[in-house]
Amino acid sequence: MAGLAKGRPVKVTVMKKLVDILRPHGNHWVGDGFPVRSLFSYQGDTDAISPFLLFDYAGPGNFEPNDGPPRGVGQHPHRGFETVTIVNDGEVSHADSLGNSGTIGPGDVQWMTAAGGIIHEEFHSKGFSRSGGPFRMVQLWVNLPAKDKMSAPKYQAITSADIPTVAFEGGEARLIAGELDGVTGPASTFTPINLWDVRLDADAEVTLDLPEGHNAMIAALTGHVTIDGQRVGEAEIARFSTDGTGAAVRADGDSTLLVMTGEPIDEPVVGHGPFVMNSEAEIRTAISDFNAGKFARPAA
Ligand code: MN
Repeated sequence: MAGLAKGRPVKVTVMKKLVDILRPHGNHWVGDGFPVRSLFSYQGDTDAISPFLLFDYAGPGNFEPNDGPPRGVGQHPHRGFETVTIVNDGEVSHADSLGNSGTIGPGDVQWMTAAGGIIHEEFHSKGFSRSGGPFRMVQLWVNLPAKDKMSAPKYQAITSADIPTVAFEGGEARLIAGELDGVTGPASTFTPINLWDVRLDADAEVTLDLPEGHNAMIAALTGHVTIDGQRVGEAEIARFSTDGTGAAVRADGDSTLLVMTGEPIDEPVVGHGPFVMNSEAEIRTAISDFNAGKFARPAA
């Protein structure tokens, strides 16, 4: 107890338990631009992943130079949640019915709150399309509480330069959202969320501080790590218990991880394609609102 006598706070880390490892359960193309592995979706156990809804990992892959129209996915709607696009390699251009448009490249993040309804398109940038090259990105869907599902849509363009880095022995974390070691990420969120882009050196052994009461998941994007004696390889996600305040990770080689934690939203989840609401009736309304042209279209 000598440490206490000196008046220093004693931090007690209780490890979160590794509950399971989520593996890709399907490959598909989103439009003709995004070859995606789906690591989780709202079609599974939504309580286990709340407040997150869907995790698509596009690439890693390589695109040939293309003189034709850029590959991607044309105008489509979303309602009831947020889409978070994190580009690792390549460039993605976006335009939406709020009049926002832009291109994000390696290290940049686009945090789009669809909420009451948005229509957007997502394509390879013209420059990347022409040059071709390596391509890798994540799209994560984040749920909104019922009270915010029909709020005004909005858009946060977060460049790599906006994202602070917390260095620690064996690696570093770029904080997109949430807080680590007193440093706060730039994304504003509706419910408490951490989203960290973490890099670990080979053989690093770290304990990440993760909040008590949050669902927590760590996706291995490149490399592989060992958690609780289990190997978590590329495109796999370790899912942890809500109780506990830390996760111990050993990097078996240079690795990049996406760390996601969030306070669960304890409400029903009913999803249908690009709409995620709380009831079937709200899904029917979303479909009829969209068909009736009540979602604004991107500016020409
Ligand atoms: Mn979309």
